[in-house]
Amino acid sequence: MPINSPTNLPRKDLFEIPSDILYLDGNSLGPLPKGASARVANMIQNEWGKSLIKGWNDAGWMNQPSALGDIIGQLIGAPKGSIVVGDTLSIKVYQALAAALELRPTRKIILSDSGNFPTDLYMAQGLIHSLKQGHELRVVDPLCVHDHIDENVAAVMLTEVDYRSGRKHDMQTITEMAHAKGAVMIWDLAHSAGAIPVDLAASNCEFAVGCTYKYLNGGPGAPAFIYVRPDLSGAIKPALSGWLGHDAPFAFEQGYRPANSIERMRVGTPPVIQMAALEAALIVWEDVSIIDIREASISLSERFIALVEAHCPQLTLASPRKPEERGSQVSFAFEHGYAAMQALIERGVIGDFRAPNIMRFGFTPLYLDEADIEAAVEILKTIMDSKLWDNPKYQKTNRVT
Ligand SMILES: *Cc1c(COP(=O)(O)O)cnc(C)c1O
Repeated sequence: MPINSPTNLPRKDLFEIPSDILYLDGNSLGPLPKGASARVANMIQNEWGKSLIKGWNDAGWMNQPSALGDIIGQLIGAPKGSIVVGDTLSIKVYQALAAALELRPTRKIILSDSGNFPTDLYMAQGLIHSLKQGHELRVVDPLCVHDHIDENVAAVMLTEVDYRSGRKHDMQTITEMAHAKGAVMIWDLAHSAGAIPVDLAASNCEFAVGCTYKYLNGGPGAPAFIYVRPDLSGAIKPALSGWLGHDAPFAFEQGYRPANSIERMRVGTPPVIQMAALEAALIVWEDVSIIDIREASISLSERFIALVEAHCPQLTLASPRKPEERGSQVSFAFEHGYAAMQALIERGVIGDFRAPNIMRFGFTPLYLDEADIEAAVEILKTIMDSKLWDNPKYQKTNRVT
């Protein structure tokens, strides 16, 4: 595995980022990797265009969900054959949670925290509603999760890095606590994969899920992934019993019989064009060490915090101050954060906003360096000093913030 090889960061040459943009939003949508356009064009023109339906075999389309899963596994400490890609993260959360509840049929509590991304909680609510078995979603303060893990908890379902504040859970310790009380552990790695070192095998968690369009740069709509601990992948019951999770999809049997592998977490036809983009995006990681990425991300974010606190006193740090307690993003609270972010974006500094008052900045050392951070804060300082945010044109709320 190449993950311990030395890295020279950043690797801006690997991405197509407009020269007038400082991109601090790779935690939400990664930029375009240079090889992706050509790979997608090749897929469309040669594989789809020339091979037509033969592409499922000849071009390996049908194997892509597992092949890409194995590549992602190298970045997050998962063995071969334990990850499959497909669908969206919301769907993968549902699958993991449904399978977890089946593993603990007498327990009724799903434990999560108020820092979780809403869709994870919504999917749990929807699952509870359709199961009608008296399950309850208990949402507690992120800092007190451990106090609420007891023998009634079927599954602990958490996102490792809080999408709003960047606060990072201690994956190892919480997983051990969940297991000590007999609960199943599900980790959402949406803001971890490609951002911080993760060792899924060492964590011993039963399930993990994540998306590939954030730090993995797979592009808008890139498929999600799901990890199932290898000892369980032949045993869990798939809630979404689609034909491509069947043991023999092309036998077209009347009854569902799950594949005896991680492939049972597949549902239907995979997004082949999007997987071609993801395949190209994952090549970027071949000679990059996630340890080096983490180190560089901490140094960039520490620099950012110091500069913002020195030059923009109107903003209050909304992320943990200790870098080891954060993922790879930094958030600042500001009453007029939405307008200030619009003013920043208009000046080429792209971050994003999360209600009610959070200005969020992602640190992605693959394509950001210290000069970028300094330039971004310089622009932020101008906006703050001259109250440039105080302009009606920055008040209009877009559909996506
Ligand atoms: C980004 C994110 C999602 C998005 O889910 P999709 O179904 O891919 O839209 C879900 N959960 C978490 C924790 C996220 O950060």
